[in-house]
Amino acid sequence: MPLLPSLAGLTAGEAALMLAPLPRFRAAQITGWIKKGAASFADMKNLPTPLREDLARRFSVYGSTVSAAHSDPDGTIKLQVTLGDGLKIEAVLLVDAAGRKTACLSTQAGCAMACAFCKTGSLPFRRNLTSGEIIEQFFHLRRAAGEHLSNIVIMGMGEPLLNLDELVKALRFFTAREGCGLSPRRITVSTSGIARGIRALAGEALHVRLAFSLAAADESLRVRLMPATKQNPLAEVKDALHYYQQQEKHRITLELVLLGGVNTRVEDAAALAGFVDGLDAAVNLIPWNPVPGMCLDGAPLREPEAAEILRFREELEKRGIAVTRRRRRGRGVNGACGQLGVTE
Ligand code: SF4
Repeated sequence: MPLLPSLAGLTAGEAALMLAPLPRFRAAQITGWIKKGAASFADMKNLPTPLREDLARRFSVYGSTVSAAHSDPDGTIKLQVTLGDGLKIEAVLLVDAAGRKTACLSTQAGCAMACAFCKTGSLPFRRNLTSGEIIEQFFHLRRAAGEHLSNIVIMGMGEPLLNLDELVKALRFFTAREGCGLSPRRITVSTSGIARGIRALAGEALHVRLAFSLAAADESLRVRLMPATKQNPLAEVKDALHYYQQQEKHRITLELVLLGGVNTRVEDAAALAGFVDGLDAAVNLIPWNPVPGMCLDGAPLREPEAAEILRFREELEKRGIAVTRRRRRGRGVNGACGQLGVTE
């Protein structure tokens, strides 16, 4: 059966064009229902029944479906989402200590970056997601949460800045008043360091926050951990981060996944301090979440010990660096950072 055009992810204006000659107020009602979490046209109670039936024959609300959902006692919900062509991706709802709900969204099916510590990186890259597929993840998570989501992090499967055009369309929808109306300050795009993409994102003036996930500030260790970053040397990435900061005036987050015995030495902290120098940046330490079978140069990766994390943090703080540590969330459903990879 041919796929029906889907409406989630369209602003009221875009939906009005697609639904013409339906009056514009009907398009606004329909997109309003989707924003409130309607799962189908049947849920849109203020539309006349014949119209609901006609819409269901010609359109779908979503082009993707939730094919599995897993909940962790800490509040994390991981959704497996099946796209229109059958590919599967994952999206995660995170709940912080203050009860804020954040959607962690994917931008690609698979990832070509092949980071040694990341389950997604062990999967083949399949394709970029469309803006609609990115936006639909937000709505699927919103329905799973049963309430409004306050933040978005683009940190799921894939390197977002290698899918820039669709990412930008999705970000415009998330921040538009007639889209989701979220403040751009509540949206963070996380990149492994695509220098050209960082500059291009700055040029879009979206005012979203930027996070750079670097794994190590020593170039040779970074390339061993994140082989595809060879094309984006740290000096070029730093220049691009400066540029982003000049344009956007935001503090940048540097994310460092901590791998036991690999990137937690004193010299690693010193190299990181050197990289941070001159940037307005805070470092977020992310103790690695185990993924069975992940190795570096043939040796299995391991979680950092508590004392190792503390020592590393102290080394950074001694050098005047602002440090935060991410609380572990979602490990019970393999939905924590670096663990996404479509588990049935
Ligand atoms: S860490 Fe990010 S960039 Fe690296 S393989 Fe995983 S999803 Fe891709």
